[in-house]
Amino acid sequence: MTAAPATIAMADPAGEYRLLEREIAPAVLRVLASGRYILGAEGEALEREIAGHTGAAHAVAMNSGTDALHLALRACGVGPGDEVIVPAFTFFATAEAVVHAGATPVFADVDARTFNLDPDSLRENIGPRTRAVIAVHLFGQCAAMDRIADVCDERSLALIEDAAQAIGADYDGGRAGSFGAFGCFSFYPTKNLSAAGDAGLVTCRREEDRDVLRMLRHHGSREPYLHDRVGYNSRLDEVQAVILRVKLAALDRFNDARGRVAAMYRERLATLPIELPAEHGRGRHVYHQFTIQTGRRDAIRGALGEAGIASALFYALPLHRQPAFADACRELVLPVAERAAGRVLSLPVHALLDEASVERVCAVIRANV
Ligand SMILES: *Cc1c(COP(=O)(O)O)cnc(C)c1O
Repeated sequence: MTAAPATIAMADPAGEYRLLEREIAPAVLRVLASGRYILGAEGEALEREIAGHTGAAHAVAMNSGTDALHLALRACGVGPGDEVIVPAFTFFATAEAVVHAGATPVFADVDARTFNLDPDSLRENIGPRTRAVIAVHLFGQCAAMDRIADVCDERSLALIEDAAQAIGADYDGGRAGSFGAFGCFSFYPTKNLSAAGDAGLVTCRREEDRDVLRMLRHHGSREPYLHDRVGYNSRLDEVQAVILRVKLAALDRFNDARGRVAAMYRERLATLPIELPAEHGRGRHVYHQFTIQTGRRDAIRGALGEAGIASALFYALPLHRQPAFADACRELVLPVAERAAGRVLSLPVHALLDEASVERVCAVIRANV
């Protein structure tokens, strides 16, 4: 009997840990022995290092990407009666944060090639109540930051970047998280920079915003037991911070490895009748996902599954068709997002994926396309 080939996963957080264990394990033990577990030197160092990596002026660590979005919206003053424009093709949390802030998400369509917010659809959706825009850098590639920032400037809208999938990506020489008033990151265990649990961070330009974010994440408090406003508990702990610092030092290397996996897929899938992910050519794509489009999506996904290969539907339902929003959006038609939702298939891509595994994935696609 021959052994079944190993399964191929979408992400490999345990493999990342094994690779960096000699640095991560003692660092975690040091934090445990220190007795300082929340809001300490590790978190502050992480904030400085991520601000440096993204080119943003300031960074405030939080306990998740969702809270990063929510608190950035609060820091902008977004609240009840306001509308915030978001792309319909993204992870649910982008719009969920708008609802947490008491505002209404307005769903715009996306660009058919990059899946990112379409600047024309953004413009069409601006109304008298629009206060802010969340541009998502989906799958690891920046949205059209020049055109989107122009629209926001012209109409005095706050620009928030959802950079949860795009740490290290750039556009015209600027980094994800450095374009808007706020940049929101997630360090969920499958993200390009990942913690061993939940973690997130907001970058910002203005010192006043940094101070508000620090206050919001810590019960509205600037001084012990004095509360200027009602805030939240959204602090990052020191164990996650120290893990993230070790992994941040490896991030560029890991993103390069993802880029090599993407190049291998491109080479092997180039002649097949499927659409490969488009690069805008304005800067680095960090391949959080490698997402193809095909009318044979479900058949290919089934065959991959039988061969022990994971794949994912990011995203099978655009946000205006999610049960939580569908009632409010019954009349809304967003043709590009809807078409993409029926055709996208995300293939395994991570820093430890080897060439033999990529070849196995491609062989299954070739046989089923
Ligand atoms: C992961 C993700 C989030 C949410 O981050 P969490 O850390 O899981 O709360 C938000 N937006 C996008 C686009 C994401 O991919």
